Order: sequence, then C-alpha cells, then structure tokens
Amino acid sequence: MQAKNIDEFVRENAPCYIYQKEIIDKSCQKLQEKFENIEFLYSIKANPFMPVIKTIKENGIGSDAASSNEVLLSIKAGMEKNQIYYSAPGKTMEDLQKAWDKCIFIADSFHELDLLEKLAKNHGEILEIGIRVNPNYSMTDKKAHSSKFGIDEDKIFSFDWTYKNLKLVGLHVHVQSQILDTNLLSNYYKNTYDLAVKFSKLSHADIKFINFGSGIGVAYDKKNEDDVNLDILAKTMKDLYEKNKNELGAKFLIESGRFLVMDSGTYYTPIIDKKYSNGKTYLVVKNAMNGFVKGPMKEMLKQALGYECKKAFEPLYTGKNQCEFEIIGENSQKEIVDIGGHLCTSLDLLASDIELKKANIGDILKVSNAGAYCFSLSILHFASHDLPKEFLI
Ligand SMILES: *Cc1c(COP(=O)(O)O)cnc(C)c1O
Repeated sequence: MQAKNIDEFVRENAPCYIYQKEIIDKSCQKLQEKFENIEFLYSIKANPFMPVIKTIKENGIGSDAASSNEVLLSIKAGMEKNQIYYSAPGKTMEDLQKAWDKCIFIADSFHELDLLEKLAKNHGEILEIGIRVNPNYSMTDKKAHSSKFGIDEDKIFSFDWTYKNLKLVGLHVHVQSQILDTNLLSNYYKNTYDLAVKFSKLSHADIKFINFGSGIGVAYDKKNEDDVNLDILAKTMKDLYEKNKNELGAKFLIESGRFLVMDSGTYYTPIIDKKYSNGKTYLVVKNAMNGFVKGPMKEMLKQALGYECKKAFEPLYTGKNQCEFEIIGENSQKEIVDIGGHLCTSLDLLASDIELKKANIGDILKVSNAGAYCFSLSILHFASHDLPKEFLI
C-alpha cells in the first residue's frame, strides 16, 4: 500500500493498529544474518496478533511463550513443539496440562519442578526440561539479587535432584529488556555462558540448550539514541559458540520481542472533539488509555514527578521520547495541545503541551513506535468501548 492509500484506509478504519509485514521480515532477517548458529525466539507477549506471529514463524523463528495460551497461539501459527519454549512464573498444573506435548517447559520454581515431575510420571515419560535461573549477576553488576523469576543460582548448585521423571537439558536466563549498551549485553552473554558451563557440571544436567533471554534494545528516539551494535554483539556470540562447540555442544537461543516488531507498527486514532478550556486546547480522541496505554502512563509519571521521567519502566514506559505524534489533516499551521481520550477519567491523557499541526475534528492522530507492547498492554475494557482494530499489511 502507498502512503496516500494508507491515509485513506485509516480514515475508514481508525482507531486501528497497522503493522507492516515488510518491516517485520527485515528485522527477522537482520538478526538471522548477523548471528550465525543462533536460533531466535519471538516473545509473543510483545504483539500476539496472529498475522504477526505467522509472519515471524515464516521467517523460521520459534516462540518464547509467556502463558499456556501463548503456547497454543504458537501451535496455531504453525510452529513445531521443539521451537516453543514456555517460560513464565506461576504456571499452574492446569497450564502445564494445557501445554503438555506442545512445547519445551522451562521450570521457574521448585514447586513447578514438583508439578512437572507429577505430570511426567502420570504420562509415564521422562520429560526433558529447562530451568530458569536467577543468576548472581545483573546487566550491570556481579551480585546476587532477589527476584520473582527463576530459581536462585546458589540454590541450583546446592539442592538434591530427586526427580526421576525429569531430565535437565537447558538453562534460561533473562535479566533485563531494552538495553542499548553493546558492552553491557556482551558481558551479560559471557556471564551467561560461564554460568552454563558451571551448570553443565551438575551430575543431573545434560545441557542441550542455553537460552540467553532478551536484552537487545531498539532506539525509540532516533535523534538521541543509537541502536545496539549488532556486529560487535554477533562477534561475542560467535566466539562463545566456538568455545561451546568443544565444551558443551549446546544450542544457543536468544529471545526478542520488540526488536522484531516495534517499528513495524503505527497507531491511528480519530480526533472526535476539540475544545478550549481556560487557556488550553484539547483534542479528544478515541481509545487513548484503552488503546495506547503507554501515552497515559508517561503523563501519569510526569504528573507524579513534576518532570519527564528519565527511568524506563518496561514495558509500560520506555522513556520520555517513546513515540511521536502527528496529525493527518489539511492544515499547515501549528498549535500547542493536550490530547485526551474518551474515557471518564482524567488519567486518560495521551499527551500534554505538545506542538502539532492544527487539527480539525475528523482528522487522524498518528502515533509511531506502536508495534510492541501497545495494544496487548492497554486497559482495553474500561467503559466498554469498541476496541481498536489491527491489520497486517
Ligand atoms: C518480555 C520478555 C522478553 C522480550 O523482551 P523484549 O525486550 O521485547 O525483547 C524476552 N524474554 C523474557 C523472559 C521476557 O519476559
């Protein structure tokens, strides 16, 4: 579709998300070309729209499923059992049963190991599983931290393995998302490989895969941020993989949500009212908080602090320049506006004091960087409005 046709299309369909297949394909290919011998997994929670998952599957990428329903979505998209890694805290027996024989399970706690043992025993099988470890390092230091995710590194090396129906074949680590510092990521990969070597010496472990988790960030603010240097990162991974060939012979996995889909998506919503209140100009749009919650989150932090928040709170708030707003309309003059949504709460504020092209009722507001953690994260059902539509073009 040409840009002009997209404008016509969104006038008919907004509020809507449009994801561009070509951009997703390119992002998949970029990672796969740079990183030889590494398998990538798509973190479905970033964007679970089925045509998006299918696009990624067609590029030969498997999934990082964060719920039993995401395991089922992966299967529906045509992925194979051995490409689907189910890792999340708090899996219940019901979840495990639902996902049984459809994925590789990553145990997140001792309780989960007990549940998996029971399930495997009932099926009369020896089940190969991975464990998520809460490592004695973070992205920025080499200390133990408390976490709701995984099993503490020290405990992994000190407890007795009594599971007769489980075989430990993999390690999963993930400590932080949206890292743009190449050195931090390189060090993190090295630390994770060292942990895997230590892990492989456990008498009950026969390590077949190392899942390095995610971390590769994307520059949301192209003026002030640089993307990760993938060449340097790929070189680190290549060196580790060469070592691994002699030492462990394990498969290397990296997860990614946002890198694959973030900039493929744009959000469009119609301006349905315009008002002037005691010196301020307001645009009222459909589905702000109940369609693009990242905007209202940013405004809430700004109000609480009195200035724009510097720290990110992934995935709800990515930084002060997490997206750009633009008016699709006829005017060329500019004005300063607040953009509010149609919900009955003052928190439903998409942006404040921003300069945009002067808008008329009926024009369309366009929001960039909307491919990851936007629709799926929003507070969709408040006030029972219709939901934005989604399209892959
Ligand atoms: C959310 C999540 C990811 C994806 O993170 P991105 O920053 O979108 O790449 C990967 N792994 C785990 C375990 C996650 O929870």
